[in-house]
Amino acid sequence: MTLPADATKRAGLTIDQRERLLLAPYAMHSGDSRGRKHPEPAHAYRGPFQRDRDRIVHSAAYRRLSAKMQVFTGELGDYHRTRLTHTHEVASVARTVGRALALHEDLIEALALAHDLGHPPFGHAGEDALDELLADEGGFSHNRHALRIVEELEQRYPEFPGLNLSVEVLEGQAARIDKRSTSALQALLEVQVVEAADSVAYDTHDADDALELGLLKLGELLELPLWAEAARRVERQYGKLSGKPLKRAVLHELIDWQIGDLIDRAGRQLAAEAIDSVEAVRGCGHLLIEASGELTELKRELERFLYERVYRHPQVLQVRGDAQAMLREMFAGYLARPELLPSGFAGRIEQAGLRRTVADYLAGMTDRYAEQEYRRLFLRV
Ligand code: MG
Repeated sequence: MTLPADATKRAGLTIDQRERLLLAPYAMHSGDSRGRKHPEPAHAYRGPFQRDRDRIVHSAAYRRLSAKMQVFTGELGDYHRTRLTHTHEVASVARTVGRALALHEDLIEALALAHDLGHPPFGHAGEDALDELLADEGGFSHNRHALRIVEELEQRYPEFPGLNLSVEVLEGQAARIDKRSTSALQALLEVQVVEAADSVAYDTHDADDALELGLLKLGELLELPLWAEAARRVERQYGKLSGKPLKRAVLHELIDWQIGDLIDRAGRQLAAEAIDSVEAVRGCGHLLIEASGELTELKRELERFLYERVYRHPQVLQVRGDAQAMLREMFAGYLARPELLPSGFAGRIEQAGLRRTVADYLAGMTDRYAEQEYRRLFLRV
């Protein structure tokens, strides 16, 4: 490969040299990674977190996010988010914040792309059903299940089960399980950025999707202080807008406002507390990247509104009830006839127990596949 001289110079930088040039001292650096459970030699031109990102992108669980619902099922239309497009929006927001703060973007991207891998079919409805069904086996949580997927269930490499991701990615995902735990409060800034970006993405996009589906009216959202302030900012910039142009401009403003707020607040905190290393991040005992007090309060109000009006909407509750009934029936069906499980899962029964194995299999299904298998195997007509 022949590159122009300047490009050769830049391309010739080692990963450590690049990171020393580009990253802040409080960012995670590849050279400081605690490695992988199954040691592997360094890659010739990809850093460890870049490899993690690539492994996640090439996993089956990641591809299946495209046919898993975020809040609304595919039957309702094709405008609204799927679990995969939500994941990309989180990655996009998180990378923007991460780059502005000179954090490790590859690590951020790996964490963002993995953050919802553990969602079963039908989102939180599916999660709650599996949690009940596994009540005697420790329950089911999508955040814990994501770890199970990347550590055990994905089968891609001959030498080890799972994806053998870097310790920092696994730790970051583990911090999501209990967000008030010490490990969450000591999380790397890259982990904190993804957590904050998830909230930016779903608060904004769930409202957008609900509007588009006709579950909410624009006027109702504009009565909320968060939307009202965003609309005032839009008016200052563009004059009076209405209808879809207003909605779109407010959504852009909301994302921009929240991202700017995260970056400004984090910059002030990092300077005020003189955070100059990963050890200082871990040792400070509280989150350094979160929305400001004002925005947190406004977002909380929006979330309360979305909970009442969208997540508890009769149409959404109907889907929730149907999905849970179907998963419960399938769970009982596979328990009664474990021979219906694919051989890869049947082989795990001895080690993981039948109930957990059935849940692992069900959790891996897309919404579409779950419905298809339900009809094929269990629907009594
Ligand atoms: Mg998410």
